[in-house]
Amino acid sequence: MEKKTKHTPMMEQYLGIKAQYPDAFLFYRLGDFYEMFYEDAQEVSQLLEITLTSRNRNADDPIPMCGIPHHSAQGYVETLVEMGYKVAICEQVEDPKETKGMVKREVVQLVTPGTMLGYGELEAKVNNFLTALVYDDTNSKYGFAYADLSTGEIKTTTLDNDEAIKNECSSLETKEIVVDDAIPEELTNYFEARNILISRQSKVTHQAELSYLSEKVEDELSQSAVQLLLSYLGETQKRQLSHLQQAKTYEPSHFLKMDYYSKYNLELTQSIRGKDKKGTLIWLLDETKTAMGARLLKQWIDRPLISVTTIEQRQAMVESFISAYFERMDLKEHLKHVYDLERLAGRVAFGSVNGRDLLQLKKSLEQIPVIRELLIGINQGEWDNLLKMVTPMDDLVGVIHQAINEDAPLSVTEGNVIKDGFNQELDTYRDAMKNGKKWLAEMEARERVETGIKTLKIKFNRVFGYFIEVTKSNVQDVPTGRYERKQTLANAERYITPELKEMETLILEAEEKSQELEYQLFLTIREEVKLSISALQTLAQSVATIDVLQSFAEVSETYRYVKPSLSATESTIDIIDGRHPVVEKFLGHQAYVPNDIKLDQETMILLITGPNMSGKSTYMRQLALTVIMAQIGCFVPASSAVLPIFDQIFTRIGASDDLISGQSTFMVEMMEANQALKHATSRSLILFDELGRGTATYDGMALAQAIIEYIHEHVKAKTLFSTHYHEITSLEEELPALKNAHVGAIEKNGELVFLHKMLSGPADKSYGVHVAKLAGLPDKLLVRASDLLEAFESQTIELSRAKENKAIPVASGLVEEAQLSLFSEVDEAQEAVIDELKQLNLLDITPLKALNILSELQKKV
Ligand code: ADP
Repeated sequence: MEKKTKHTPMMEQYLGIKAQYPDAFLFYRLGDFYEMFYEDAQEVSQLLEITLTSRNRNADDPIPMCGIPHHSAQGYVETLVEMGYKVAICEQVEDPKETKGMVKREVVQLVTPGTMLGYGELEAKVNNFLTALVYDDTNSKYGFAYADLSTGEIKTTTLDNDEAIKNECSSLETKEIVVDDAIPEELTNYFEARNILISRQSKVTHQAELSYLSEKVEDELSQSAVQLLLSYLGETQKRQLSHLQQAKTYEPSHFLKMDYYSKYNLELTQSIRGKDKKGTLIWLLDETKTAMGARLLKQWIDRPLISVTTIEQRQAMVESFISAYFERMDLKEHLKHVYDLERLAGRVAFGSVNGRDLLQLKKSLEQIPVIRELLIGINQGEWDNLLKMVTPMDDLVGVIHQAINEDAPLSVTEGNVIKDGFNQELDTYRDAMKNGKKWLAEMEARERVETGIKTLKIKFNRVFGYFIEVTKSNVQDVPTGRYERKQTLANAERYITPELKEMETLILEAEEKSQELEYQLFLTIREEVKLSISALQTLAQSVATIDVLQSFAEVSETYRYVKPSLSATESTIDIIDGRHPVVEKFLGHQAYVPNDIKLDQETMILLITGPNMSGKSTYMRQLALTVIMAQIGCFVPASSAVLPIFDQIFTRIGASDDLISGQSTFMVEMMEANQALKHATSRSLILFDELGRGTATYDGMALAQAIIEYIHEHVKAKTLFSTHYHEITSLEEELPALKNAHVGAIEKNGELVFLHKMLSGPADKSYGVHVAKLAGLPDKLLVRASDLLEAFESQTIELSRAKENKAIPVASGLVEEAQLSLFSEVDEAQEAVIDELKQLNLLDITPLKALNILSELQKKV
């Protein structure tokens, strides 16, 4: 028997196309289905929980196969891409009716996590950024670029270390990074471990029609990053990308810098507990009414400003919005009717816009003249630059208004999209259709009279066209000769007549022609709208800006925030009655105890002590959030606030194990501290919450002290440092720029009451046992803990006296030195024991021998 090795022509075609897309699932169009074969079928059927079948079931080597109906494919594609896979959509690009043999098929789009366009409610408020990274190994520098395919914005910069790249990618929440061959594996591994798809694009393909987009980028490395990004977009999209905007260069140092840890700890846009936004800064500040505004707000929070002038411009607008209450309420109403102009513009470019989209566009544009008038009223003509961008686009409104039917359907090929009176030819066809239908109604009435069959009906279906239907009981009255039987049903007969067929041809022809013409007309209108894409994008940006500023005004007014006064040269912090905005929103204004935060020019470090749960970390976060709110142009939660402009914020707050990289809390803590000590300047803000808690007491205390001294001597950044090591509060005597503060608590009938009030000077004790009592631990246990505490405290005093004599080397600054100094404390005998322990080969000793060794060691110690 002949062995079957040859594939059918169709499978040959499939395998040929699949070979070009080895890293994607190939959705191969076969009639009304997308089919997958081989491993693709096996994997996809599992991932999507659909049935796995096979082709050639009876052959020796059946091919695994699964399929998805094409009309419901979108949801499946989205699911796969959200899981981090790529899907290549392969369509029939020839009409099967008009071809002999194999229909030609081509991949028309490669859907990837960074290029997917979601249109759901949720996705509307977030950008989907695709990033690209190139590496110049002679200068050890990276070119970095990102784009949101749905809105068309492209930005680029250069970055000089891996940390910076990780920070940018994490704040952009990118799901896919396009890399060239030079990117170090360490970096790609890092991202892959975080479920970010790495797409390798070894060569920059020349996308001639897109190359102008990087024209304005001067830096060569940034240029290459943008080119790589555009190549990838060109290759995956294979469609018009005329909405992409000129790439803009940005400089991370022109914004307040925060690393990934800090943003995460401060819960700016993501909450620590989960995906939910509740409890984050963006949750508090988002009173935007448009999707564009919501996306811009997130961008602002990710990149607060450092230019006083620009911040003050935003503040001035917020102030005007606050004082114009009624106009603002009106404005909000109109903003609600502005749809996502940016993404609508994108869909116009892609050619995926339909009649309803154009109606949304019209409705949005109709709001613009009113919004403009309201703005002029609110700012008395002062915001020239912004107002210039809020330009009504009446012509476009006119075109859509004249052409598009108010109840246009989703489909653009089935008619009823174009208004009557827009095109004469179309009107003629429509008349013909209408007259035809009228004629049919008249014929029906006539035939009923003539035949005497009252239930006679003229009906239509796709197979037979128009026909006359008569129920079985009336068949004897059907005129012979004139009626021609066409079909017999269980209880009816269907007939046609020559005149009915004639009319049918007329009607169907008119219908077909009218649909065809409507579609052509729609395309012309779409082309016309396309000419306005860049104007629409400019308008969208201005509307987004207005929306964010009104949102700031809304929130500032609701929660009684004040305009902070900012200085780029002074370093005084003077906040009166400051509040943590999110905690206050949860607790209510009345329940929140406001606190001042004062660090004058001369004070660098505030050392905060106080019981657990008393509000230390809330106080520190409060300052960070206040600074961020101030530097994005919002008002701040206080009754008055004077702040310097900070260049960076570093935090170490709360425990966050980096589970992915398998690092312990203490390691993460030290890494975060290291970031701050290395990169902070005298204009930075450092927040260290109970640093050193993750290790043994003396270790921790020594590190805490050494770090404080290092900041005091070398970094000179404004620092809030909370600690439960009371011992180090005595540093105030040695370090002139350090001040003690503590959170008040009182004992009432043996119970601890937190005042949440920040007071000057150190706390008297740590109240740990009291907190344990609050938490409801057993009484017996608490009594024991109190006894132990007393014993430990007396020991500590002795120990510290002993240490004073040994003169702990007050670390001259370096953390490393502090660590060394600890080890020099370890006595030699102990070191010998440690050595011995290290050298033991546990697999080689009996339990008895082990016991003996243990006893020897104990003696030595
Ligand atoms: P610590 O860092 O000292 O352990 P936290 O800052 O975590 O304490 O505060 C503990 C809780 O106390 C917070 O969850 C909050 O509900 C409450 N709290 C903190 N500060 C205040 C305040 N100023 N007014 C009212 N409640 C506060």
